[in-house]
Amino acid sequence: IFITVEGGEGAGKTTIIHKLETYLFSKGWTVVSTREPGGIEIAEQIRSIILNPANTKMDARAEALLYAAARRQHLVEKVRPALEQGKIVLCDRFIDSSLTYQGIARGLGIDEIFEINQFAIENNMPDLTLYFDIEPAVGLARIHADKTREVNRLDLEQLDFHERVRAGYVQLAARFPERIRLIQAQRPIEQVFADVCSIVDSYLNS
Ligand code: C5P
Ligand code: MG
Repeated sequence: IFITVEGGEGAGKTTIIHKLETYLFSKGWTVVSTREPGGIEIAEQIRSIILNPANTKMDARAEALLYAAARRQHLVEKVRPALEQGKIVLCDRFIDSSLTYQGIARGLGIDEIFEINQFAIENNMPDLTLYFDIEPAVGLARIHADKTREVNRLDLEQLDFHERVRAGYVQLAARFPERIRLIQAQRPIEQVFADVCSIVDSYLNS
């Protein structure tokens, strides 16, 4: 079962994945938690190119192709084998990040980004996607308070970029209501996590 976690900066994706992994493990599932871009050596190398703050000349289409390349390698090397072994894969970001960051926020178009990603993933879409919705200003404030977080090239983007990312996610959640569940992330972590558990439980029991 392939579960992806999506949302803007500071939405709490990584924290919730850790908690969800422990929860599912306690219920007897074997869980693989991973992240994009990255998760395996080649994709982590691509991540460091994409997110390097020195790479200010990065072209938007080149960026989109690098995300798709990292996704492909990660899928083949890590995600697909785990799914074939009956594990639950929890992935911090996947195709919806590209659809909204590159398709909407960078303006390359959802259909164009879907097409290059379809080449990369060959129909291996997530079974369930948890989208953590938060006001960008609130998420960015959380991130700036976290001194341990690595600086990345996206930190140069202004608030309006992150507003477009959010609008893109909301649009995707409306377009794919069966797969994408919108969760209000602007609440204490325990409340957010309670919603996550009930959504995941009802999916696993259906
Ligand atoms: O989720 P995480 O914070 O590790 O993501 C790293 C960075 O990559 C974030 O700043 C995110 O906005 C950016 N990103 C992006 N386009 C994607 C995926 C991630 O701009 N498709
Ligand atoms: Mg994170």
